[in-house]
Amino acid sequence: MKQEDIDRLNDAIRDVQDFPQPGIVFKDITPVLRDGPLFRLTIDGLIETAQGERIDKIIGIDARGFIFGAAMADRLGVGFVPIRKKGKLPWKTTGAAYSLEYGEAEVEIHKDAIEEGENVMLVDDLLATGGTAGAALKLVKELGGNILCASFLIELEFLDGRKNIGDDIRTEALLKY
Ligand code: AMP
Repeated sequence: MKQEDIDRLNDAIRDVQDFPQPGIVFKDITPVLRDGPLFRLTIDGLIETAQGERIDKIIGIDARGFIFGAAMADRLGVGFVPIRKKGKLPWKTTGAAYSLEYGEAEVEIHKDAIEEGENVMLVDDLLATGGTAGAALKLVKELGGNILCASFLIELEFLDGRKNIGDDIRTEALLKY
């Protein structure tokens, strides 16, 4: 992405203090979505992180990963696979649990979502502690997907989410804080 486009994206992301709970600064990406040309630039930027490799499927994480991931899949003419919070997918699933600050969470994928050896790219809006992305990647590996990269609009570097993703997976973020 060109520096001027990164600057535009950076300017559009809105910090919301104390949402959804005290002490959290929520990175609101809706100003990016409502700006057609900027939304398109963001989709371009995320697709570029695959570095020209052939993608068979985009895997998006519940819920904002669906917005970016589905637009990327449509642009590329490839399939889209949702990874959802536990209990939302109707068919046969496999799940992975991960730790939150308080307690546990679980994400699920449909067992027939990815075929063995398919080139896939994982997408979400934001990498924080990396718990969600780490669990999502575990599911993709379990189904035999060949992970090209895990790409995010935003990375909160101070939370070191990459430690939950692992060195074997290329991790990309358009903006880092
Ligand atoms: P984590 O598992 O800690 O990496 O959290 C990642 C998920 O939580 C992503 O799906 C994000 O959309 C969401 N998230 C976590 N922290 C924030 C934040 N500060 N602003 C916006 N979304 C967040």
